[in-house]
Amino acid sequence: MKRSAIIVFSLVTAVAGAQSPAVTIHAERAIDGKGQVLRDVTVTVENGRIARVEHLPAAHHADYELGTLTLLPGLIDGHAHLAWYFNSKGRLHIDNDGDTPEQSLLAEAGNAYTTLLAGITTVQSPGSPQDRHIRDAISTGAIPGPRVLTSLEPLEDSTLTPAQFRDTVRLRKKQGADFIKIFASRSIRQGGSATLTTEQLEAICGEAKALGLRTLVHAHSAESMKRATEAGCTQVEHGIFATDEVLREMAARGTYFDPQCGLIFNNYLDNRAKYEGIGNYNEEGFAAMRRAIPLAEATIKRALTIPGLKMVWGTDAVAGAHGRNVEDLICRVQKGGQTPMAAIASATSVAAEAIQLSDKVGSLTPGLEADIIAVDGDPSTDITALRRVAFVMKGGKVFLFQPVRK
Ligand SMILES: [Zn+2]
Repeated sequence: MKRSAIIVFSLVTAVAGAQSPAVTIHAERAIDGKGQVLRDVTVTVENGRIARVEHLPAAHHADYELGTLTLLPGLIDGHAHLAWYFNSKGRLHIDNDGDTPEQSLLAEAGNAYTTLLAGITTVQSPGSPQDRHIRDAISTGAIPGPRVLTSLEPLEDSTLTPAQFRDTVRLRKKQGADFIKIFASRSIRQGGSATLTTEQLEAICGEAKALGLRTLVHAHSAESMKRATEAGCTQVEHGIFATDEVLREMAARGTYFDPQCGLIFNNYLDNRAKYEGIGNYNEEGFAAMRRAIPLAEATIKRALTIPGLKMVWGTDAVAGAHGRNVEDLICRVQKGGQTPMAAIASATSVAAEAIQLSDKVGSLTPGLEADIIAVDGDPSTDITALRRVAFVMKGGKVFLFQPVRK
């Protein structure tokens, strides 16, 4: 190589080091995450962010020509348990089952990668202490995965006083929790009745708010949902026994609702042998989950009739469900009657608003992080297209690019 060529080469690399070159992505169709379908769209990505979203014809050269695929913002699953996995004996992993912490962390890293490849670029995990390691390793780029927000260990001991709960909230903040997860009702397998008082919830959600942390409350019964709402908590999870009355109160107070459709229960039933005999995963528990399927669908339908209720998307993905997250969104449309565009918005722009990251993720908007996926088909008319993820970019980095089928 001649000296002049070496100089030019090093100049180019110096510039490239400061700023990565622009990358363009073109597809015939894009869904912006805020309810709009755009045609013939070219997205320009610079330095990991969306620089431009333009209507440019296909003849224009694009670095990633996605043809008939549909571009979307990366999906945001507001409730997924990345730490849940099937252990080396093929059973649900629990403490002291013989798996080493290394095996558990690797399984969680695998779940994160699987989730990312399924088009989920942000996940909220409520929560396990070891989530922190996965979150931090992903955010430095050491391992692939969605952005992770975690509550770390949830708050659930109903014998604690309000003052003790406040202390626990402060401790979680110190430990690096991104938000607070609270169990305010029993599980669906135990009937879902309220476990925490309004006073206890006020202490937790009040303290969290003062520290700038959001609060997610596991609540199945209408009473537990009502207490969480009146205590000013940010979001109610599950809510399978929701009534119109409590949903209207949530809408009035701006409390987010995160109901599940079919995935969670079907996954338990499909993987019954791997759960059976552990804790309350018994005959009675599985019967309760089977009964919950039509209830869950009815809850979605009910929630959709409440004006102003802000519904986000959270799958409650556990072992066996990671990577199949979109089945819950498909269920919402097919069984719950939500429109595909509203379902997509709840998993993108509305979800981003709920986690207070609208300025970073959740729509195809210039200035936001380049979290962009593409699916084979048009999910605005056929929601099952979300199963066919062919392109995944997170923060401007491509993690999946499958050739477009002709
Ligand atoms: Zn959960």
